[in-house]
Amino acid sequence: MSSDQPIVAHSVADLRALVSGWRRLGETVALVPTMGALHEGHVSLTKRVRQEANRVVVSIFVNPTQFAPNEDFSKYPRTFESDLTKLAAAGVDAVFNPAPSDMYPDGFATTITLAGPATAGLEDRFRPTHFAGVATVVAKLLLQASPDVAIFGEKDFQQLAVIRQMARDLDLPVEILGGSTIREPDGLAMSSRNVYLSDAERQTAPLLHRTMQDAGQRIRAGADIGATLDSARAAIAAGGFDIDYLEVRDAATLAPVEALTGRPLRMLVAARIGKTRLIDNIAVEA
Ligand code: AMP
Repeated sequence: MSSDQPIVAHSVADLRALVSGWRRLGETVALVPTMGALHEGHVSLTKRVRQEANRVVVSIFVNPTQFAPNEDFSKYPRTFESDLTKLAAAGVDAVFNPAPSDMYPDGFATTITLAGPATAGLEDRFRPTHFAGVATVVAKLLLQASPDVAIFGEKDFQQLAVIRQMARDLDLPVEILGGSTIREPDGLAMSSRNVYLSDAERQTAPLLHRTMQDAGQRIRAGADIGATLDSARAAIAAGGFDIDYLEVRDAATLAPVEALTGRPLRMLVAARIGKTRLIDNIAVEA
């Protein structure tokens, strides 16, 4: 594995020049969109796409349009130098780190309008403008980097569904892959936002995953989904969380389900502890 520093492209023009140089050599390109503050989850996505393409580009851009005014845009962790060190160790070829004014020049006026999985009643109920911001910036990144393949984490399960739907609907010439969720040893899903947790909250946080696993097991064994979710919600609330949602949905469409269907299901949670909002999800196969 190379530990050369990745090439850093700061502008769309630099990124395009880099990618077209590779393309002239017949090389294929993978894109891993991120907001930086990188952890093992992000690194795992770069390793997964390394198997699919000759060149791996990671974008680092804290996208202002996917944060609501009351959210954490200004305090979102920014750790560019240590991100570069991690990406060098992972053998990533290039980092795209555009300025907000490059992504959203004066007069920018276009937003993608979404239905389908983006309006499933999960994240969208609590962050109504979020997915329009995500889809628009991801569409831009895909058009800027023109990768053969792009990867998104299952950690943000609804986001992955939204992006798959957008790529299909807009005939974007890219293969969208999902990467499995990387967890801390105690089960907490890695997230750039975990640094917001106090020590006590960090101790409590694995309750989310533990409770979902327990509920998933009971549902697979035939327990009623509604009743099982009610007791799981009670357990999570008793740990000190305020729950936004805990639901079981069809994994492909995110439509509500009331019983095992024979199709893959997903259990998804969002809950707040102190000032931190955590999301997670697990498979509940039939
Ligand atoms: P973010 O920087 O949080 O926007 O995440 C960038 C990408 O990394 C998204 O596709 C996320 O779904 C993915 N990701 C975030 N956390 C994890 C994790 N724990 N395991 C795998 N992928 C993740």
